[in-house]
Amino acid sequence: MTKRLFDEDVYLRTCKAHIIETTENAVVLDQTIFFPVGGGQSADFGYIDGIPVTDVKEKNGVIYHYMDSFPTTKEVTLIIDWDKRLDGMQQHCGEHILSGIIKEAYDGNNKGFHIGKDFITIDIDTKIDQEMLIHIEDLANDVIYQNIELKFDYVDDDTEFDFPVRKDVTVDENIRIVTIPNVDCVACCGTHPHRTGEVGIIKLYKVEKNKGLSRIFFKCGQRALLDLRRKTDIVKTLNQEFSSDDTSILERFYAEKEKNEQLKKSYIELNRKLIDQTIEEQLKKEKAYQLLIFDYLPSQDMNYVIKKVSEVMNTVLLVYSKSEFKVMLSHDGSFDVKCNEIFKEIKNYGGKGGGSQKVAQGIFESNESGMIFVDYIVGVLND
Ligand SMILES: [Zn+2]
Repeated sequence: MTKRLFDEDVYLRTCKAHIIETTENAVVLDQTIFFPVGGGQSADFGYIDGIPVTDVKEKNGVIYHYMDSFPTTKEVTLIIDWDKRLDGMQQHCGEHILSGIIKEAYDGNNKGFHIGKDFITIDIDTKIDQEMLIHIEDLANDVIYQNIELKFDYVDDDTEFDFPVRKDVTVDENIRIVTIPNVDCVACCGTHPHRTGEVGIIKLYKVEKNKGLSRIFFKCGQRALLDLRRKTDIVKTLNQEFSSDDTSILERFYAEKEKNEQLKKSYIELNRKLIDQTIEEQLKKEKAYQLLIFDYLPSQDMNYVIKKVSEVMNTVLLVYSKSEFKVMLSHDGSFDVKCNEIFKEIKNYGGKGGGSQKVAQGIFESNESGMIFVDYIVGVLND
């Protein structure tokens, strides 16, 4: 058995220990401050005599510290990555607070917990809406403000078990009951702060439906602070760009959006006039087909060109857009031209595309190759 110093003093960041065994890739010590992965909490990282510990696991009461190389002396110095430990403790204790509150206020049970790289989630077996989310957030942070002391009880006998646990538990070995008085009570082996105030803040972000459960996304403590810092920077930059402040930024954003839409509309109208002009200039009525080349023709206006030309004449139309590197060949079906057959050659010209007998389209990576393919089509149409 490895002596679990983190159970006695969760704030211990460094200690001495003795190596009692080394396996192929792990070290066993007489005592440790490294928490092994389990109970929804990841393992502590850190160093043993300056050598990184990459994982920590427990098997039958023995804790294995996984390392790429081993210390040379029997007595070693352990240091844990405190930021990671504190983060785990804050998210984990936040989960206890939320679970207790949701059980009490909405009779919802915590059916799953995950500490992700970014968000932390809990899955609740009752419907949680936006209004409830705000209510839960208020209640959870109130538990932090009250700075309630957590209680830890060790139980190894079923007969003496008298705890109002939120999740049923079988006492078949020495288990630990973690109680936040008037908030939550559950069996848990993880690392916890002594008081709820140490969680700092619990920020709920959103709730999503997930396999019949409500998945709540949240962040506690330092994670929430870093998130707030990042978002404050974003808002600050936006305020500088919009010459606004926090109270007027949304209004400014919507005004800019409206302005943008108006601009887009006038731009499309203007560009259509330019397209009309190009069509008029380039149409050669005596020819059996029409080749139109546009310096600027957005993809969505290709059909506009077909429609415009069809108002003037019925023809085989070959359109090329220099702005999109796009080529299109079309007619109304009354010509003996198989557009898809012609476009079968496109891959030999470095392009991609295809279509039907009446219309085919393709795209290139440069105007150079696009225009060579246009010349090829012209050759076919001239035959
Ligand atoms: Zn816990």
